[in-house]
Amino acid sequence: MRVPLQKIETNQTLPESADAVIIGGGIVGVFAAYYLVRRGLKVALLEKGLIGAEQSSRNWGWCRQQNRDARELPMATKSLDLWERFAAETGEDTGFRRCGLLYLSNDDAELEGWARWRDFAGTAGVTTHMLDSTKATERGRASGRIWKGGVFSPSDGTADPSRAAPAVAKAIVKLGSSVHQNCAARGIETTAGRLSAVVTERGTIRTPVAVMAGGAWASSFCRQIGIRFPQASIRSSILSVSAGADDLPDALHTADVSITRRSDNGYTLAISGRGRVDPTPQQLRFADQFVPMFLRRWRSLAPGGAEGWRSGHETLARWRLDAPTPMERMRILDPTPDRSTIELTHRRACALLPSLTKTSITAAWAGYIDSTPDGVPGIGEIASVPGFILAAGFSGHGFGIGPGAGHLIADIITGAEPLVDPRPYHPNRFKTAAWGKVADF
Ligand SMILES: Cc1cc2nc3c(=O)[nH]c(=O)nc-3n(C[C@H](O)[C@H](O)[C@H](O)COP(=O)(O)OP(=O)(O)OC[C@H]3O[C@@H](n4cnc5c(N)ncnc54)[C@H](O)[C@@H]3O)c2cc1C
Repeated sequence: MRVPLQKIETNQTLPESADAVIIGGGIVGVFAAYYLVRRGLKVALLEKGLIGAEQSSRNWGWCRQQNRDARELPMATKSLDLWERFAAETGEDTGFRRCGLLYLSNDDAELEGWARWRDFAGTAGVTTHMLDSTKATERGRASGRIWKGGVFSPSDGTADPSRAAPAVAKAIVKLGSSVHQNCAARGIETTAGRLSAVVTERGTIRTPVAVMAGGAWASSFCRQIGIRFPQASIRSSILSVSAGADDLPDALHTADVSITRRSDNGYTLAISGRGRVDPTPQQLRFADQFVPMFLRRWRSLAPGGAEGWRSGHETLARWRLDAPTPMERMRILDPTPDRSTIELTHRRACALLPSLTKTSITAAWAGYIDSTPDGVPGIGEIASVPGFILAAGFSGHGFGIGPGAGHLIADIITGAEPLVDPRPYHPNRFKTAAWGKVADF
């Protein structure tokens, strides 16, 4: 595995029963488990590989309201508070800091878009500051360039992807619940039409509730139980550099390249939106649903290779519950980083911020970003399988809103007042072939 990740010890023995089983130990699954455990439920969290090893350790770490689609903004705002509260509640360190996010641009249309978003965000009580050229140039002084303008969002922040999901899992274990790594869920059992058990590679857990928080694997799992979930993923490649460039902003976005300070004072470097499309059987199946998304994003996408087909996460195959499944053959989805993107990203970052030339590359990796057709996650109970809750398709924004999503899932399960209006997230919208509005950013 190429991506930095803190490893944790977890339980070996599966419980025979649980009040809820969470399938997937990414940021969404661990936070869902955490909020359920805190409400006194007995939870079993299953992860086929290692906690946090897929998208949740591979991202930039941005926890942002800035430029969020209206449907996700309330969850983003609540999540920032929850990131802070989690540290206070548990003493575990996710690396979260409200360091503010800086956006710089020389493009009038981009600046106008940000100004429109600032006006909209103001109506939702979110403060973000447009920067004129003087202020943008001052904040971007490490680049030595003059900037036309920018945005600074002071209440946004970053957390550390290499330690966030493991920190939440550690808190769950401390609270006495069970977390199981190297344990894939193969499917579910139903009794009188309701979910009654989760079948794993190590045995069956009786439970009335299961949450499918399996990231890029969610749709193929859902297919086994007759649930149609349009989902497709893009391979995105990024790198990290060592500490040594200390005059840089904590988190900076430009059209050319973006940087994020890591907990070790090194930086993650990436080009926003850039990715490769590795064709898969599932992508072909849902191709028509993704046309609006593709039309919006095609400029930053390039064709990929056969790796996605081989890795099995977007298979259309049916599998048996008493034999190894694609999830056990691919414990950790660790796609090959795209060398040309890594080189270009590093070149652009060093050209933009010369002090980065004092650092060296420490790692390069890729991740499959799982997306829905409208770029908004699918979260909610599936009517055809009562007790089965889908929580996937976080479309490149799921790390920052992981705490809010987890909280909402716990609210749905326990019947508590929902943290945010759950309706924009409900998977029912995927039933119709009609194209929804693609998320703005
Ligand atoms: C390069 C990159 C940059 C990104 N930047 C950002 C960012 O700055 N901010 C942001 O908010 N988001 C960002 N994202 C998106 C974010 O990382 C994801 O939306 C988020 O991590 C999704 O979390 P998840 O828990 O849904 O999925 P994942 O983290 O992928 O976790 C799903 C887990 O489920 C497990 N699993 C699957 N099926 C089974 C099964 N049957 N049984 C047991 N376990 C199973 C998998 O092994 C995996 O560990 C980025 C993503 C990438 C790849």
